[in-house]
Amino acid sequence: MSDPIFGRKISNDRNLEIILINDFNSVDIRKLAIYDALILDYTDRDGCSRFVRQCRNSMIGTIYLMPIFILSINHEIDKVMEAMSDGVVSSVQIEAIISRIDRIRLRQDQLVSVDSSSPDIRILTKAMRFMFTRETRLTPVVDHKSHIGYNFPVISDHYDQTNLKEMFQLFETATEKEYFRSRFVDKLHVCSSCYSSFLNFRETCPKCESADLVTENLIHHFVCAYVGPEHDFLSGDYLVCPKCNRMLRHIGVDYDKPSLIYNCKNCSHVFQEPVMEAFCFVCKKNNSIDSLIDVPIYSYELTPIGEETAQNGPSRDVAEDVSIPGFITATTFNIFLKYEIERAKTSKESAAGSLVIRLSPRTRENMGSNYNRMMLEIADFVKNATLSTDILSLVNSNTFLFISPETNRERLDGLINQIKGSVIKLLESSLPGIDIEISVQTVTIDGSLPQNDVLTQLIGSGR
Ligand SMILES: [Zn+2]
Ligand SMILES: [Zn+2]
Ligand SMILES: [Zn+2]
Repeated sequence: MSDPIFGRKISNDRNLEIILINDFNSVDIRKLAIYDALILDYTDRDGCSRFVRQCRNSMIGTIYLMPIFILSINHEIDKVMEAMSDGVVSSVQIEAIISRIDRIRLRQDQLVSVDSSSPDIRILTKAMRFMFTRETRLTPVVDHKSHIGYNFPVISDHYDQTNLKEMFQLFETATEKEYFRSRFVDKLHVCSSCYSSFLNFRETCPKCESADLVTENLIHHFVCAYVGPEHDFLSGDYLVCPKCNRMLRHIGVDYDKPSLIYNCKNCSHVFQEPVMEAFCFVCKKNNSIDSLIDVPIYSYELTPIGEETAQNGPSRDVAEDVSIPGFITATTFNIFLKYEIERAKTSKESAAGSLVIRLSPRTRENMGSNYNRMMLEIADFVKNATLSTDILSLVNSNTFLFISPETNRERLDGLINQIKGSVIKLLESSLPGIDIEISVQTVTIDGSLPQNDVLTQLIGSGR
């Protein structure tokens, strides 16, 4: 690979295949997978931006996860572009980015190939993998070109601008399943028909709906209690009360301006309470304020379950988990766990546990569809080995979670370790030489640990 097909190879003492590209028209992104990283010259700003988008919008892991750096001397990079890249460099002295490339590549090697025909699962997997390999949050970037005013780098482009509802539903599902943990960023009011936040808020006449209004102060004369529009008081440069003829001197002392009155220039109606509406510049709908949709904007980080799922893939259907008899969905499990933590505060303690099955990406790929069959067999085994009161869930493609109500941790720990031993024996007899790693964690639920910490102990500490 000494001659890159396009661009110029940047030599480095690690012998990584890093190329600098400045002519974006000649590049076929399908041929990029052989490189370790790309450096893109931002001189052709539009070409560069289009190219970054093309890579990140690909659904092929080796393309969308490619380490991409932008070369710009003055660092004036579009914020969305910057967020989609892995950083901005001002020269091709690349020692500084080598460790970053190594780190991304190392994390990338931990990913198991995931096949799914569901667009939701593919986009969610992509989001999680981008976050996992970059060790970063999914953070919305302010972007006036986006329909809602925010861009979720690497993800937003997969959604039709007028149907961003689907994107938010995906984030919500991922949060419910405890793949994502959210942090509040902003709250939007968007158009009820097209989800745009490009709105004009305006006062209109309650009679004829015209926005052609003039406003005037209302004046309240304390001494005689007269209240009237300001123009009734105007007398040359002075304000004189039309009722008692006294001159008004100091606002707050002898008079004040309690509110505004509106005058409709279209129908001459005079009123105090205009009707607020929000005109949408995109679909031209006049929204009443009440009909606007509130959309909270969050940034997201991967939870321990999310990290595990990023590597091994979500359960087969995001919207509705495959139901295995005796197992509850991840969402339901999390509800149970919350409930159990609350209950244990005032009552007998319980135990929760995890059994995480890890195969090397290569082994798992070699197994193909046998992997799912194996997991179903293990699930069956788990069900038969546990009590009917135990709550079981397969939260992603390789993680079993348990809650044993009103039992101590030792019993559950013994039980799961026993399952682990049997599963290993079972697998070694049917698949000799398989390199499998099974980790078991258990924790006491006594109400002292919040749900996030319980899950971190069950899944996060095993690594
Ligand atoms: Zn009017
Ligand atoms: Zn007066
Ligand atoms: Zn609209």
